[in-house]
Parts: sequence; C-alpha cells; structure tokens
Amino acid sequence: MDKTIEKIVSLCKRRGFIFQSSEIYGGFSAVYDYGPLGVDLKNNLSQLWWKEMTQNHENIVGLDSGILMHPKIWEASGHLGAFNDPLVDCKRCKSRFRADEVVEDIDDQDWASVQCPSCGAIGSLTEPRQFNLMFKTNVGAVEETGTEAFLRPETAQGIYVNYQLVQGSMRLKVPFGIAQIGKAFRNEIIARNFIFRTREFEQMEMQYFVKPGTDDYSMIEWKNKRMKFYEDQLNINKSNLQFHEHGENELAHYAKEAWDIEYKFPFGWSEIEGVHNRTDFDLTRHSEYSRKNLSYFDQPNNDRFIPYIIETSAGLNRMLLTVLADSYWEDNENNRIVMRFHPRLAPIKAVVCPLTKKDGLPEKARMIIELLKPHFKVVFDQQGSIGKRYYRQDEAGTPYGVTVDHKSLEDDTVTLRNRDTQRQNRISIDRLVEELMKKVL
Ligand code: ATP
Repeated sequence: MDKTIEKIVSLCKRRGFIFQSSEIYGGFSAVYDYGPLGVDLKNNLSQLWWKEMTQNHENIVGLDSGILMHPKIWEASGHLGAFNDPLVDCKRCKSRFRADEVVEDIDDQDWASVQCPSCGAIGSLTEPRQFNLMFKTNVGAVEETGTEAFLRPETAQGIYVNYQLVQGSMRLKVPFGIAQIGKAFRNEIIARNFIFRTREFEQMEMQYFVKPGTDDYSMIEWKNKRMKFYEDQLNINKSNLQFHEHGENELAHYAKEAWDIEYKFPFGWSEIEGVHNRTDFDLTRHSEYSRKNLSYFDQPNNDRFIPYIIETSAGLNRMLLTVLADSYWEDNENNRIVMRFHPRLAPIKAVVCPLTKKDGLPEKARMIIELLKPHFKVVFDQQGSIGKRYYRQDEAGTPYGVTVDHKSLEDDTVTLRNRDTQRQNRISIDRLVEELMKKVL
C-alpha cells in the first residue's frame, strides 16, 4: 500500500477532518482549520492526554495561562535572543531555506560552493541570516505608544512564571508537575507537510519540578511513560515509533539532555514530542529578570533549592497527524479506505442505519439514537445503499454500525457491524448501550 501524505490530505478534506485555512480566499499558508470530525478527534486526543497527566498522576495539576504575557518573559527565556533560525536565500530562484537543512555544519561552510536544493544553481545562496520566529503585536489603544508584546511560541513559560502560585495554592511538594494545553505561534519559514509544521498550533506540555540530582532518574521515567502513551493509549504501531537523542550540536540553549519521540511519517522519521531536561535554567533566569526568589523550600530536609525541570512537550496537531497516518488503511480486497482509529479516539462511535426508509424502520433507528446519544457520539444515516453507508463511515473511522431491519421489529434485536473485520452479529437492543460502552470508552 502506498500511503502518501496527499492521500491523507484528500481524505481529511473529503470527510471533514481538516481544511486549508481561508480556502475561499485562496488559502493562508501554514494554517489549517479543523472540521467537524477533526475537532472531535483532536478533543479526544487532548482529553486523553489531560486525563493521563492530571488524573492518573496525583501530583500533577493543570493550568491555563494567557497567550499574551509580559514581554520580559521572552528576554528571560532567551527567545528574544536565541529563538532564531538561520536562513539562506537563493538569489536565482528566490527560494528560502533553513541553513541547517541545506548543509550539516553551517558555521564552517563555504557558501559559494553550495548547490541550491531547489534550482540546482551553485553559489547562488546568500550567507545565513538570523530570523526571529516570534510573532510581534502591540498591546494598547494607540500602536505607537502601546507596549510591544509577543504571541507565545511555547506554553512552557506560562507554567514557569506561575509555578510558585500553583505550588503554594495547591500545597504541592517536589516532585510535582504542571500540565497545560494551549495554542502556540511560530513564524515558521518553511512550513510544510500538512499539519506537521504550521504557524499556529497547539501544545500539550507538562513541566515536572524535581530536586536537583534526581533529574536523571526522572528523565528516564518520563521517557518511558511518554512512549507508552503512544503505544498503549493511542495504539500506534510500535515499529513506527522510535527515540532520537539530541547530540551536542542539536541541544537547545537550556537543555542538559533531550530526546525526541519520532514517528515514521510518509515523509520520513520526524519528531512528535520532546522530552527535555531543562535543568534550573528557566527558573534561575526568571528569578534574575523578575527579581523574585523562585527557590523552593524543602521543609522536612530544611533545604532550599531551585528545582530542575523535566519537560514533556507534545504537539497536539502532530499527534493528530500521527494518528491519521497510522490509522489510514487501504483495504484493497474490499475496495475501501478505512481509518482504523482506536474506538476510544474515533470522533463518531457508531452509525445507526435503518435498512430501508419504510415499514417503521427509521422510527426504530431513531429510538436507538435516543438510547445511545447520552453516552457517546452517534449518527443516523438512511441515505443510499447500506454498503455505501458503511463505507462512508469506514473513511470517517466510525468503529461500529448498528442496523435496524425487519427482524428488529419482531424481536428487538439489531445487527452490530465491526468496521475492521466487517463481521456482523445480532444483539438485543437492551444490551446495546452496555456492549458499546465497553468497547468505545
Ligand atoms: P522542530 O525541530 O520540528 O521545529 P522543535 O524541536 O522546535 O520542533 P519544540 O520546541 O521541542 O519543537 O516543541 C515541542 C513540540 O511542539 C514538538 O515536538 C511538536 O510536536 C510541536 N511543534 C513545534 N513546532 C511546531 C509547529 N511549527 N507546528 C506544529 N507543531 C509544532
């Protein structure tokens, strides 16, 4: 099977998962809109992550900080100074590239002898120039006198600047974590591969505050937990997942150790989540810039220290693309495309179909919808042949089909169809809720 990103993009549009932004105006580069099925799938993913962090761990709590924050935060974090990509332009074909994607070692490079990856010209590339990835805006009524502010490029800083308030109000003891889901913005130069790299995206970050010296152990623990999340909770094929450790040249300015969880996308292995040891870098910097003492007092040991931070940083949109790519299946034998989402993730859990539009079957099917809809998302479909209706739902990833036929009127049973095997079995209507609840939640 040839699983290409183009096929996934096309299915996403056709079935209402993801649309290009501002399509009627010709599109807006590197921003995407989530359609009815996309938003439910995305919500299911973020709820699963939220539950994993804040419900399954008693010492992890949630936060929702603003997208706009005090501009000094970005000085302290280093984003104003270092959040740059070095870029090169081709003078001939006008293409623009990230320098580190053209050559391996950008510092020690004779650019006059490098070939343009787009038009092939030699010596047409400019020397690398820095470009800051943060979006700037102005806060205040009059632009000239207002304060310059930035759209946050990561959610993490909102956690760091609130860490003492959260710790104090919730009486948390190290080690503890703070989780946050929210939008982040980066003026990416080379935005590509559908929703993989966009200018507006959502992050799901958890910052874990630990005692210095216990950070290496905590790093191992979180690497394992995060990988297990993809394998066990999202059901991603293990052979499509791997770790990649950052070498010395790749480490961000704040990191002591960094690992990426990578997925084997149709366009190659790429990062979906980072697990980083950020040391005491961020809290130390915020202490300096805010002149507030951000140390933690460890009462039982009468010890005061700035906690080290282990960060798990996932992109919700990349997680969604991972699930889409991993679920996409061309069932050539049956001439259909199936999104094999785990039922827990599927946007619609079941379609309810009357076999025909007459003899009271639609009414019976409506009654079943009423029975199921307080528990999970279901849809009613009576348009077209039953086979066509099933195949539409296979593309939407709906795991179950409930069909009402003439026998249903006699004995209150229906058929229950499994999306992947297409097998059907009869089940009594009064057992339907319980049976489906077991499978889809
Ligand atoms: P990359 O090297 O791919 O630009 P990064 O190392 O800068 O990513 P981090 O800053 O560690 O990424 O961000 C953590 C996570 O946020 C990434 O693993 C990814 O899932 C997500 N992410 C980062 N940038 C983008 C983007 N432009 N579009 C979508 N998701 C993103």
